[in-house]
Amino acid sequence: MTDVIDGNAVAASIRDDLTDSVATLKDAGVTPKLATVLMNDKQASETYISMKQRDCEELGIGAEDVRIDPDAPAEELFDTVADLNAREDVHGILVQDPTPDHVSDERVLSAVDPAKDVDGFHPENVGKLVGGNARFKPCTPHGVQKLLEHEGVDPEGKDVVVVGRSNIVGKPLANLLMQKADGGNATVTLCHSRTDDLAAHTRRADIVISAVGVVDLVDGSMLSEDTVVIDVGINRVDADNDKGYRLTGDVDFESAKEKASAITPVPGGVGPMTRAMLLYNTVKAAGEQAGVDVDLP
Ligand code: NAD
Repeated sequence: MTDVIDGNAVAASIRDDLTDSVATLKDAGVTPKLATVLMNDKQASETYISMKQRDCEELGIGAEDVRIDPDAPAEELFDTVADLNAREDVHGILVQDPTPDHVSDERVLSAVDPAKDVDGFHPENVGKLVGGNARFKPCTPHGVQKLLEHEGVDPEGKDVVVVGRSNIVGKPLANLLMQKADGGNATVTLCHSRTDDLAAHTRRADIVISAVGVVDLVDGSMLSEDTVVIDVGINRVDADNDKGYRLTGDVDFESAKEKASAITPVPGGVGPMTRAMLLYNTVKAAGEQAGVDVDLP
């Protein structure tokens, strides 16, 4: 019997635990606060920002929604980030991707104070993660690690295939899973667009994690019996509903479910975990900056 992993339920339990962590901070006179900075007018980014703001409010975390005109000079963004870096009441800063072409992505990543970099993308934080001493684990990879933990799947000694080598998901996830640490110790293979014969890799894996953005990239014929399948992909496909589309992952759910011992759905798998781990990093940042010991789930 295949277990369909309920990401909403796991995320809810993490949010519940974080409520206690927020209470500890408030008892010490600290209200954790996240500032989101949006410098584009894309509907998808707008939606992500409003979800992040709402998630914070639900937990009693302060949320500041900073908007910058996409046509404004790049310096306006960097000045804003510098101001947020300097503010004691702001513990986490997230610059929503993408920023306009005239703003250097690399400079954005380095602009946020590493102590407030709740995305975990600052080069200093990337280095700490690779070195096995992560300050902030990036939210999606961390969410995948937590899902495996809650599912009782220990990656130690397992063959894990991660498909996708982006800086925000594939690379940090592969790194986390190979670390000599709890939730790590896996033998990790990182596959990508230039991989010859993806199926040869996925077929010998105990755990397959796809983070690509291609519908039906992985199907049941590419899996062995009892594989754990984590689908990070979020793809829009046309649908006959009000929105005109529905969301689907990288994995052909029905055929993969025939082979998998456990599998995440899309939506309702990794997505809610990403959101929960942003709250986790914001609470962690607040505790560290205020010098308050907080238990984290
Ligand atoms: P990206 O476009 O930056 O990277 C995609 C990666 O897939 C690249 O490394 C590329 O080498 C690889 N790739 C492309 N085609 C391939 C193929 N045919 N075979 C094997 N590998 C291939 O994407 P990203 O930002 O890492 O996001 C990946 C997917 O995950 C997207 O669908 C995105 O929407 C989704 N995503 C979901 C969450 C979540 O919370 N669930 C968070 C972030 C991203």
